[in-house]
Amino acid sequence: MSIKVGVLGAKGRMGIEACRAISAAEDLELVAQIDLGDSLDHLNTSGVNVVVDFTHPDAVMKNLEYAISHGIHVVVGTTGFTPEKLSVIKGWLASQPTVGALIAPNFGLGAVLMMQFAAKAAKYFESVEIVELHHPDKADAPSGTATRTAEMITQARTEAKRPAMPDKTSSAPDGARGAKVGDVPVHSVRLRGLVAHQEVLLGDQGETLSIRHDSIDRSGFMPGVLLALREVGKRPGLTFGLENYMEL
Ligand code: NAP
Repeated sequence: MSIKVGVLGAKGRMGIEACRAISAAEDLELVAQIDLGDSLDHLNTSGVNVVVDFTHPDAVMKNLEYAISHGIHVVVGTTGFTPEKLSVIKGWLASQPTVGALIAPNFGLGAVLMMQFAAKAAKYFESVEIVELHHPDKADAPSGTATRTAEMITQARTEAKRPAMPDKTSSAPDGARGAKVGDVPVHSVRLRGLVAHQEVLLGDQGETLSIRHDSIDRSGFMPGVLLALREVGKRPGLTFGLENYMEL
């Protein structure tokens, strides 16, 4: 039996690509395409099992509250999640114990691997910085991927008892050293022509290591989206990060 899927943000850049990929998958059935102004009740009446949300950080919580309270599993690509928002979602899931929710800052399988490699490498280097580069229509900075990478690196450095990174900067205009996420400076570039890119720069005495991932086309996110749609119903509760659905 196929999984009935609804797409939230169906007319957006990621939503259009998701609708295309879901329609082409034999085991998934696209039964609802919702965009700004459409009623969420269509999810319920069309018998959706799973929704994927690619909307806007300001819209996603309302969508998730509706889906979870109606027993619909949720796959979330929309970024901008804070610990406070995650704990609100956990609260909703507590009263729907069979519902699964995956929040994935990045559906690119290569991007997930890049984050894992960066976290593994971080404890061996004195300093780590992140440069993330995106198209200028993106609402949030730093990107969800960069924030997640910085958190994973910070955790790895803390566990390895790494001292603070050296930095003798004594004067700098606002933003010159990026935004600190955990221990890690993150630099956000917004430029027409880019899709989604990230480079993690690691440095120590006499050597550097750069780990770079490039999303060249939004279709590159789709294998991860389809994996998530197939798996989320088997994994009740909140999962953060697609790496938890991959055998790494
Ligand atoms: P986009 O092109 O602006 O698409 C968002 C769509 O959602 C638009 O059609 C928008 O309508 C619609 N929308 C806004 N509020 C809505 C609501 N309440 N209900 C239903 N639809 C609503 O943006 P995008 O580039 O596709 O990105 C969407 C989100 O995905 C962003 O947060 C982005 O950072 C994230 N993203 C995640 C990944 C990942 O791998 N996790 C990859 C790429 C992007 P209007 O245009 O009328 O406002």
